[in-house]
Amino acid sequence: MALLKEGLTLIHEHTTIDLSKVKNNPDCFLDCFDETVQEYRDLYDLGVRNIVDVTAMGMGRNVDYVNSVADLTGINIVQATGFYKEPFLPAFVYEQSIEELAQHMVNEIRNGIDGTDTKAQVIGEIGTSVDVMEPMERKVFEAAVLAAKETGAIISTHTSLGTLALEQAAFFVEHGIDPRKVIIGHQDLSGNLDQIRTLIDMGFNVAFDTIGKNNYFPDRERAVYLKQLQDEGKLDHITLALDITRKSNFKYQGGIGYSYLFTDFLPMLREEGITEASIQMMINDNPQRIFGGEIR
Ligand SMILES: [Zn+2]
Repeated sequence: MALLKEGLTLIHEHTTIDLSKVKNNPDCFLDCFDETVQEYRDLYDLGVRNIVDVTAMGMGRNVDYVNSVADLTGINIVQATGFYKEPFLPAFVYEQSIEELAQHMVNEIRNGIDGTDTKAQVIGEIGTSVDVMEPMERKVFEAAVLAAKETGAIISTHTSLGTLALEQAAFFVEHGIDPRKVIIGHQDLSGNLDQIRTLIDMGFNVAFDTIGKNNYFPDRERAVYLKQLQDEGKLDHITLALDITRKSNFKYQGGIGYSYLFTDFLPMLREEGITEASIQMMINDNPQRIFGGEIR
């Protein structure tokens, strides 16, 4: 069975997430259920049919919450297995072996998440810290590789501020993972077009998935980068998302909301000379191709 419905896809989001305790900031807890349903309904009206929810274990993953949002909005929400990064890793990541962690992921992919019959359909987001892959992060990457090989699942990564992407890529190549089955995340924060080119030339999928986070990197620059990649014929590896993780990002709190990608960012791309075919490639064709394979 296809993992994605026909229609547009946001490749890296969190329907609910709770990083509030570690970050000591209540804004980092997405428990605004009704507002999420409203914003996802707005996305549906804009043609979005799939959201890849990369909320891993340790990030406040909540399968029932996500299923309820999916049921109420008609959006297919792909749910995740895996572990995030330091300091958000569950205690058992420290205690269990790589093989045991891999089997935990495989079980969630084959049988279901947290004892439900909702199967995980993506491994992620698994991450590295700023400029370093911590030992426990390496352990998670080793486990993810085993689980991906056993199941055929796509791996979606987190890079901190876009750093260490080439090291992640080298790790996957060394471990025999097909780059076409990996999405390297947050590369729009890297400010490094050469790095993005290298990842694409290696065959990796690259996510511009923090659209609207202008305080980290201006959207106008994202548009300029994407135009350059269009000119070089490299957009067939690029996917888009917003990675909203804070209540203050929602419209009801005065934030940009998810539909910003359509109402503000896509018009900016058109102004820069990015074609409709290129836009479709990034939000439709590429996700459909990446998730087009079977899970075993
Ligand atoms: Zn992330």
